[in-house]
Amino acid sequence: MDFLRPTTWEEALAAKADRPDAVPIQGGTDVMVEINFGVRRPAALLDLNRVAELREWSMTGDACWLGAGVPYAVIVDRLGGELPGLAQAARTVGSPQIRNRGSVGGNLGAASPAGDSHPPLLATGATVEVESRDRGVRMIPADEFYLGVKRSALEPDELIRAVHVPRATGPQYFSKVGTRNAMVIAVCSFAVALHPRERRVGTGIGSAAPTPRRALEAEELLAAELDWDAPLDPALARRFGELCARAAAPIDDVRGSAAYRVHAIGVLARRTLAWAWNDHLGRRAA
Ligand SMILES: Cc1cc2nc3c(=O)[nH]c(=O)nc-3n(C[C@H](O)[C@H](O)[C@H](O)COP(=O)(O)OP(=O)(O)OC[C@H]3O[C@@H](n4cnc5c(N)ncnc54)[C@H](O)[C@@H]3O)c2cc1C
Repeated sequence: MDFLRPTTWEEALAAKADRPDAVPIQGGTDVMVEINFGVRRPAALLDLNRVAELREWSMTGDACWLGAGVPYAVIVDRLGGELPGLAQAARTVGSPQIRNRGSVGGNLGAASPAGDSHPPLLATGATVEVESRDRGVRMIPADEFYLGVKRSALEPDELIRAVHVPRATGPQYFSKVGTRNAMVIAVCSFAVALHPRERRVGTGIGSAAPTPRRALEAEELLAAELDWDAPLDPALARRFGELCARAAAPIDDVRGSAAYRVHAIGVLARRTLAWAWNDHLGRRAA
């Protein structure tokens, strides 16, 4: 197995262009598990750990430019205020060891429907920045990035450079059902993000369909019927939950049944919306 070790982004793009079969490795918390279990035996590994800029982040205007290799621990420690939904999701990933190595770029690269960063990226309207040496930069909205189970819009000669995550302008919540409280892949998960300036609510469903996805009808319902100055109407919250549940298309697997996941998505949706709404009204009163 060849081991490619670029030290700059340009070298990394050149290596990927010359060897599209090379498998990028950042934290290695997915890649090494697959190699150790014999799931794959790549002809080459492309180690991105020496490309320093992949571990950088910056707040630029209304968004965070988050390098693909920034570990979850940094998101938890540094970005809880600006990106609360993503930080909450990051807190639930694996263990401290996994959060020190694992990255959002790796979560996107793996494109597992159960990846915890996907629901908040969808709810907040994040954009994935990818690049190839020969075709340059592409900006892919999160809701166009996921194409199928562990399949994404990333081309073989492309690498993920960063994720642009809008700075929160309202409350955000992420909630995950697992078979225990820590070190657990989601049975299902849900993220909600209030966008008060646009009078809009964003959603993200995890681990309850072949890809992470938004609950579009549920978002449209709230855009049409939510009174942003009033307490949350319980009937509206219930219909929101029902439409989120209807947007799910899960399977039965070892972690849970399809029927349970549909039910749980409805509950998580209603519950996270209520939490966010309480915060929204609290901020207005303050
Ligand atoms: C014990 C354990 C617990 C876990 N718990 C969770 C959990 O709770 N929630 C969760 O979501 N995940 C969990 N995971 C999975 C994993 O930690 C995450 O998916 C993590 O985000 C992967 O990041 P990484 O940097 O380690 O990726 P890597 O393993 O390095 O890479 C993952 C994939 O992304 C590709 N890739 C990496 N960087 C790039 C790039 N810049 N451009 C293009 N492709 C790239 C790789 O080729 C690979 O296909 C767990 C894993 C383990 C081992």
